[in-house]
Amino acid sequence: MQISKRIDSLAESQTLQIAARCQQLRAEGVDVIGLSLGEPDFPAPAHVKEAAKAAVDNDFSHYGPVPGFPSLREAIAKTLNEELGERNPQAFNANEIVVSVGAKHCLCNAIETLVGPGDEVILPTPCWVSYVEMVKLAEGKSVLVRTTMENNFCLTAEQLEAAITPRTRLLVLCTPNNPTGSVYSHERLVEIVRVLEKHPEISVISDEIYEHILYTGQHESLGQFASLKDRVVIINGVSKSHAMTGYRIGWLACHDKGFISAVKRLQGQQCTCATTIAQKAAEAAYTGDRTCVETMRQAFERRRDLIVRLAREIDGLKVLEPQGAFYLFPDVSSFFGKSHNGFTVHNANEVVEYLLNEAHVACVSGSAFGEDNCIRLSYATSEDLIIEAMRRIKEALGKLK
Ligand code: PMP
Ligand code: GLU
Repeated sequence: MQISKRIDSLAESQTLQIAARCQQLRAEGVDVIGLSLGEPDFPAPAHVKEAAKAAVDNDFSHYGPVPGFPSLREAIAKTLNEELGERNPQAFNANEIVVSVGAKHCLCNAIETLVGPGDEVILPTPCWVSYVEMVKLAEGKSVLVRTTMENNFCLTAEQLEAAITPRTRLLVLCTPNNPTGSVYSHERLVEIVRVLEKHPEISVISDEIYEHILYTGQHESLGQFASLKDRVVIINGVSKSHAMTGYRIGWLACHDKGFISAVKRLQGQQCTCATTIAQKAAEAAYTGDRTCVETMRQAFERRRDLIVRLAREIDGLKVLEPQGAFYLFPDVSSFFGKSHNGFTVHNANEVVEYLLNEAHVACVSGSAFGEDNCIRLSYATSEDLIIEAMRRIKEALGKLK
């Protein structure tokens, strides 16, 4: 069959690809430690599971409203308003929320709605694997702006200013960040907002899916700025905060009525609505006891401290301590050109290949995120597995001469 040009040009998600490879090796009996896929290893909270079961028993088995059940959207709006706190320039209501099949689907809907052929989208890199491909799907043009470890992997106002052209339509900012673990401070955001104030034609997507996995200060959102309030789309969901990745529930929030109406039209033609049973489970996540979110955050912080300590004991790794999310993104360029057993590593892809074959540890190459000198290790796994994985990595990298 002839595949359309648009889909044919789409790359496979490298995070999902390596996770599948990891599973395949395990099925073959290889003892692989997976530090590749970014998803919490905890089970969903008990009250969420109960709500999902009750939804089945109470016959939530029919189509629901396109943007999600009003009760869920009300719970989301209430939570969002509480989290935006005193700086919130305008309270969100349920009609300004659209629930979709995971935050990934929300991002795709938002990009599809805002970007047309040739429109430019500014993506500070390293950035999450799917943004570039989503922009491609919308026939837009990604403008990659490289941030550096020296600058805490955060976009500066000068970089943003320099990247803007008359065709710029969108900026996508992710904080806490996947893959770097960097977090934008309020001051950093103020500088970015000052630039955006000069360009009212540019919309902003603020991907806040790691909001609750934060190890420093409080979460700062672009939704807190009055001057941007009608052109910011906030993306979030329960995948990371409540360890509910498989439930596939995410949401977007925006004050622009035309945008919300367009997203609803798109979703209505495309998937009708997110799974009703999963929506009821997500409602329980937002209305029920939230101590589970903090308990998981504390576990991630202990793992962060552990992996940073162990990584700093490995000669040649350059490590920036992550301030949020659950990824370590070390620079491995000091190993480029070195060999072991006839295998020379020339780049981050080959470091990942080498670690998989030699140490049986799966990571993701930084090139998947637009940064060729780094690799990503997900520490959303047990402390024992982190210790063993880092022991293996240290041994394998030590053999490279
Ligand atoms: N944004 C970022 C930065 C992510 O890391 C992820 C996780 N894959 C998503 C969005 C999508 O989340 P979800 O699993 O809810 O689709
Ligand atoms: N957020 C995860 C990751 O980056 C999930 C995989 C994906 O959705 O691409 O590994």
